[in-house]
Amino acid sequence: MTESHLMTLQLHDTLRGKKVPFEPLKEGEVTMYLCGPTVYNFAHIGNARPAVVFDLLARLLRRSYKLTFARNITDVDDKINAASVESGKPIDEITARYIKAYNDDMGALGVKPPDIEPRATQHIDEMVAMIATLVEKGFAYEADGHVLFDVSSNEAYGTLSKRDLREMIAGARVEVAPYKKAAHDFVLWKPSTPELPGWDSPWGRGRPGWHIECSAMAEKHLGTTIDIHAGGRDLVFPHHENELAQSSCAHDGAPFARYWLHNGFLSMDQTKMSKSLGNVLLVHEMIKTIPGEIIRLALLSAHYKQPLDWSAESIESARRMLDRLYGAVQGVEVSKDARASAEVPPELIAALEDDLNSPKAMAAFFGLAKDLNKASDADQRESLAAKMYACGELMGLLGNDPDEWFSAHVEGELTSGEIDVLVEKRIAAKAAGDYETADALRDSLLEAGVTIQDGRDGSTWRRS
Ligand code: AMP
Ligand code: ZN
Repeated sequence: MTESHLMTLQLHDTLRGKKVPFEPLKEGEVTMYLCGPTVYNFAHIGNARPAVVFDLLARLLRRSYKLTFARNITDVDDKINAASVESGKPIDEITARYIKAYNDDMGALGVKPPDIEPRATQHIDEMVAMIATLVEKGFAYEADGHVLFDVSSNEAYGTLSKRDLREMIAGARVEVAPYKKAAHDFVLWKPSTPELPGWDSPWGRGRPGWHIECSAMAEKHLGTTIDIHAGGRDLVFPHHENELAQSSCAHDGAPFARYWLHNGFLSMDQTKMSKSLGNVLLVHEMIKTIPGEIIRLALLSAHYKQPLDWSAESIESARRMLDRLYGAVQGVEVSKDARASAEVPPELIAALEDDLNSPKAMAAFFGLAKDLNKASDADQRESLAAKMYACGELMGLLGNDPDEWFSAHVEGELTSGEIDVLVEKRIAAKAAGDYETADALRDSLLEAGVTIQDGRDGSTWRRS
């Protein structure tokens, strides 16, 4: 991991509430855990945001560290049970179907598979062991077949989400379940009726609560203290606050995560994305007509912490951006050697190292495209194109063949081949002194969004 000494990564940590320099627990190695999907339906574009932005972080980290990245799958959950009842299909058929769909959909967005993809149902023993430890140490109690975390036993509870427990109790209007000592105590284990999925435990046949899954799987695969814990903003409370309480109490106060990262929410036309409003965009549907790279770039066009409002324009502007990138490298032959030795420019790395500033990184990427468009020297063009491909590899973009890119996705517009023909016709008309035809061809190309540039070495074109 040759470049670790260069790394000056800064990350915004939710616990400290500010941007701080990143230092892993073990030199040269990083552990990262991202809360993954609950597999009972298809992922929507909001669900794809954490997968894409933290995939970019994983790619950045892998340049300098040995990264172990775990993204879990929640395959035991009451929403899954409800989906099974509703559809009449067995639970494992539902979970298998949506695990596959999730991985296919995220793959289409250029999300690389994590190193470990632990499933909750395969870690019940670890969860039971952690719950038993919490009971033994006085942080949890059994009541009526349930095991609950006793929030009052944990002084630090509320630090991550900056909530004051006393205020929360005073403001609580929820009806308290009879088996709970206090309203905010949360479920670690609950009893299952015979028709529900369940496992034997010291507290009878039952199933785990959602929060304990992540604590147990993070411990098993990444150790007591992990470097980075990530997820969407909505998970700060209660999910991550509860994970933190469980893990630190089970581990005698050892820190659970050294850095907590949370992505902002994605809305649709300024409205919350929700099934009842009918404005949920499923990745599964979108990728049938939109290249995954366009969706990925649209998701990376805002800083991950900021809210992102999704609209038809998000796709169109990402499409134009990718056309610019592909348009720059189109027709430039890049040898294997040039590719292998190309480096990502320091400005782009610096932008990503500044709390994963992807819009700024994209600006550096476009800077290269601009330089390439201006360059006329063949060697220089090759080296700039090679650099662009190196940036593409890091950002998860520019993975298609440029010619195919233009011919594949421009529906109803001119393909690159058609443009070439028209440009050649115009050159011929000019050479024959037929300026009227030449100008008419230029104008119609302009109308189709194609600009011709006449230079000493002939004419080049680019989509505007
Ligand atoms: P879920 O399957 O609902 O647990 O969500 C999976 C991941 O997607 C979690 O990290 C959520 O925080 C995240 N997420 C859900 N909805 C949105 C949204 N509209 N914008 C951004 N992230 C979201
Ligand atoms: Zn989690």
